[in-house]
Amino acid sequence: MTQPGHGVMPGLDRVAAARGARPEGDPAPWDGTALQMQLDAFLARQDPQLIAFRRDLHRHPELGFAEHRTTQRIVDALTAAGLRPRVLPKGTGVICDIGPGDGPTVALRADIDALPLMDEKDVPYRSTVPGVAHACGHDVHTTMVLGTGLFLAQQAAAGLLPGRVRLLFQPAEENPGGALDVMAAGGIAGVDRVFALHCDPRIEVGQLGLRAGPITAACDKVYVRVTGPGGHTARPHLTADLVYALAKIVTELPAALSRRVDPRSSLSLVWGRVAAGSVANAIPDDGIAEGTVRCLDDDAWHKAPEMMKALLDSVAAAYDVEANLEYVRGVPPTVNEPTSVQMFRDAATQVIGPDAPVPTPQSLGGEDFGWYLESIPGALARLGVRTPGSDAEYDLHRGDFDVDESCIGVGVRVLAATALAALWDDRRPTADETVGGAVSA
Ligand SMILES: [Zn+2]
Ligand SMILES: [Zn+2]
Repeated sequence: MTQPGHGVMPGLDRVAAARGARPEGDPAPWDGTALQMQLDAFLARQDPQLIAFRRDLHRHPELGFAEHRTTQRIVDALTAAGLRPRVLPKGTGVICDIGPGDGPTVALRADIDALPLMDEKDVPYRSTVPGVAHACGHDVHTTMVLGTGLFLAQQAAAGLLPGRVRLLFQPAEENPGGALDVMAAGGIAGVDRVFALHCDPRIEVGQLGLRAGPITAACDKVYVRVTGPGGHTARPHLTADLVYALAKIVTELPAALSRRVDPRSSLSLVWGRVAAGSVANAIPDDGIAEGTVRCLDDDAWHKAPEMMKALLDSVAAAYDVEANLEYVRGVPPTVNEPTSVQMFRDAATQVIGPDAPVPTPQSLGGEDFGWYLESIPGALARLGVRTPGSDAEYDLHRGDFDVDESCIGVGVRVLAATALAALWDDRRPTADETVGGAVSA
């Protein structure tokens, strides 16, 4: 098959003919009509199989780094489509490239793990594994990325893929940390952009929740241990008054932190456990405070441990106690890159409709997709999975969580169109090329 020429997208009418004349800020440079028809035809054939695939995963959920059956099912489906999936070194999770390697590369990420929860639904595809359930929709994410991969493989075979799409089936999002395994295996090497969808039971099928900037938060744990000589409460001046010092640390550290970082970063330290002493008249010689740090800004997240250590040392020094900080990193905030969000928006508008994109709020929950966005641009969007008009109240991480399965077709459309939009965008001439006169702008 001949590859598409620079600036021409075969099969998609009126694609780049208008590109040169396209005003700044116009939506996607390609016409989605042909793509829409190709997606319609693909989903008319594949939708029942995709739903069956999702239900099979739902019946057999597996926890993080134990997704062996799930991995095999993904490998089988990709191999049957003529693709060459690669299993990650630890034995779960899959990376699979589609299309020519000489253009830009866009990655689509699905997480494949389930949660340690009882499946409380009464449905034929209820979990058969006691205490394990797909209660975060990762079975749906896996199915949508697989479906998109199968569609794009057809496009590639027809010479319609203007670059490479890499499917990332990531293990262990809930643990979290599977993203780091994907990255260690070279999963985002050479990738220009990465996209992901996450089920959202608060919005209806056919809608895509978008937000530029932070969409999920960092969540780290902090453990502060304070030590001092201890002694009789009658003579605090001869000892270090440890409980008093600990109380100062517990109140002053969050307050001081909030004055050291930009308030827009929403960095917050909240204590969950404080303990010291055993009787009323003895100053203890040690105490502990444990809490979580949540943060919406990547820069503030990186600086937080060092800043906290310095503040802790200064408060502890004032009260003559020793303070030790153990700072345990969780996940970084997921900070969506605005251009990638716009690609999601343009794609959803083209293949779903103008009402599809909706704003979505920031969440203080964590999502390890943030690790990818530390290295490359990309975006996570919230996919509506709620039946339109339904008053059922589902939430993620609950035993009764379920989706309206028509969301799968919506997700395939959005991911396919977004990947194509990103590939076409990244093929646009750079300023250097334009200056050289190679391409008229
Ligand atoms: Zn989850
Ligand atoms: Zn999840």
